[in-house]
Amino acid sequence: MAEAERRARWTVRELLTWTSERFASLGIPDARVDAEHLLAHALGCARIELYVQHDRLLDESDRAGFRELVRRRLAREPVAYIEGTRGFHALDLDLAVDRRALIPRPETEHLVDWLLESLRPPPAPLMHVLDVGTGSGAIALAVAKARYEVQVTAVDISAEALALARHNIERLGLEDRVTCVQSDLLEAVEVPERGPQRGFDAIAANLPYIPTVDLDGLEPEVRVWEPTSALDGGPDGLTFVRQLISAVVECSALIPGGRLLLEIGVGQAGQVESLLREAGFLDVQSRSDYARIPRVVSGAWPSE
Ligand code: GLN
Repeated sequence: MAEAERRARWTVRELLTWTSERFASLGIPDARVDAEHLLAHALGCARIELYVQHDRLLDESDRAGFRELVRRRLAREPVAYIEGTRGFHALDLDLAVDRRALIPRPETEHLVDWLLESLRPPPAPLMHVLDVGTGSGAIALAVAKARYEVQVTAVDISAEALALARHNIERLGLEDRVTCVQSDLLEAVEVPERGPQRGFDAIAANLPYIPTVDLDGLEPEVRVWEPTSALDGGPDGLTFVRQLISAVVECSALIPGGRLLLEIGVGQAGQVESLLREAGFLDVQSRSDYARIPRVVSGAWPSE
């Protein structure tokens, strides 16, 4: 069979091999996995279904759609933006994602786990949780979905990110439980008052924490495609973390015993722990991700 004729009819296996080799040769990490994600997306099937269709012949129309997705990936657009959705947390929240906000990452799932542990166990009275810098709404939605007694306030300084968060809130039908507020940290946030008790039961934040000088060294998927304003944490990466810690103290934004949980970057745990202690937080601890890198720092607001 002439090469051209054979090439007019690619099997799933051939197309995956060709594409992953092309991706790998251009330095794209996870080349094979990405090729599978894109082909499954183009064919409208689950990635796992490709394995039972390895010998399926694909016609030109199947391949045209795939070719467009490959072209986008070759420009280093992240797979999540190409697919338009990303699963988050064990609850497998299906979130819409696009360039308006950071793609939810596995390290943030550790923050969600700790946040859920820190809340009063069910059955519990109504609780209030604040998610600062909500982006796509991942943290806010994971908490709202896990605990029906929780009312979440999701804030972001970016109107575009909030529009995406609102879209996700509607997608998951959680409009009654998650409220969006456009705010520079706590500036426009109303701290809940319940009789004598004032404050949120917990405050979580995945703020921009990458030192400005490190931005150039990030992978193109992040540097070129994700919003810089969600990544750039100023000279040492901790500009917003410091501001938030001060704001939480100044506004008395936590109930006694309530936890502030902060996602942090590599090597920032010691410094952020000190910041929390200096600000008066107790029981300050860090938790690591599966790569054993401390990723979340948390402290509890004292009782009196
Ligand atoms: N974890 C992200 C990254 O390394 C950064 C997220 C952030 O700055 N909040 O790409």
